[in-house]
Amino acid sequence: MKTVAFLGLGHMGLPMAANLVKAGYAVRGYDLADACRAAAKEAGVPVASDSAEAIEAAEVIITMLPKGEHVVSVYGDLVRKIPAGTLLIDCSTVDMESALKAHELAASAACSSVDAPVSGGTGGAAAGTLTFMCGGEAAAFSAAKPVLEAMGKKIVHCGKGGNGQAAKICNNMILGISMIAVSEAFVLGEKLGLSHQALFDVAATSSGQCWSLTTYCPVPGPVPTSPANKDYQPGFAAALMLKDLKLSQEAANGAGASTPLGAAAAALYENFVDAGSGGRDFSAIVEMLRGGDA
Ligand code: NAD
Repeated sequence: MKTVAFLGLGHMGLPMAANLVKAGYAVRGYDLADACRAAAKEAGVPVASDSAEAIEAAEVIITMLPKGEHVVSVYGDLVRKIPAGTLLIDCSTVDMESALKAHELAASAACSSVDAPVSGGTGGAAAGTLTFMCGGEAAAFSAAKPVLEAMGKKIVHCGKGGNGQAAKICNNMILGISMIAVSEAFVLGEKLGLSHQALFDVAATSSGQCWSLTTYCPVPGPVPTSPANKDYQPGFAAALMLKDLKLSQEAANGAGASTPLGAAAAALYENFVDAGSGGRDFSAIVEMLRGGDA
């Protein structure tokens, strides 16, 4: 039985840690927030009283933290305390620079490391059906894979350290842009007197087909399970979409890539979040576009 320390028991981390417990791993979790530690105990995840206790004798340390700065700071502390050979897996969504820094810190302590951000949201975390996009050496990936399989359905090795974050950032840039594209099409269709269902029936089986339309349709009706039918409760909150679009723009600037639609999507989501909608599902951007105040 492998011993796993799990740092960051928030919306995503707690259900992920609970799935590791269910799969038979000896988990010790820790979160800075009292409420998260209490919720973890309630969910049957053993909780340590501090991070030092959580990582003691852990063969694997998983982090699921808000941002790159948190990951780099936690890794900076960890690598002074853990034995060589410990496997570090960071599942947070972070900027490229922090992801590479985390790998560097792990290597400085002769530890192996994988960046393994996820797709699938809190629903996927609870159901154990997340997709993990992984960056790191082949041996580190092989060691991480069985652990990740206890929390996800699809585990993809994207290449060298940092490539998991690169895949996540690129995927979510497609998502942000495509949600705006689909929303604009519905708004234009409304003005032209086209019903939502008619546009859906055509586009879902035509060249406009995409996940933002067929799985996550931003208008109520055509896809009954989409957040549009639940007053745009997240789902995937607009604030998180903005975070990921900003990461894509930072990465594009750093790499010298031209991403004009990514930049436009980031600006639109910034307006949306600034208008107080950060906690709503990201598909609610259709309402801002309909209002014409984009
Ligand atoms: P969250 O804010 O709910 O959880 C993060 C937790 O980390 C918090 O509970 C916080 O107290 C804890 N934390 C911060 N610093 C810590 C430290 N030093 N030690 C221990 N705990 C610490 O965030 P979340 O929604 O669970 O997201 C986590 C990561 O996953 C983010 O990077 C996010 O972008 C990414 N993500 C989220 C979703 C989603 O739908 N929520 C989907 C995909 C990816």
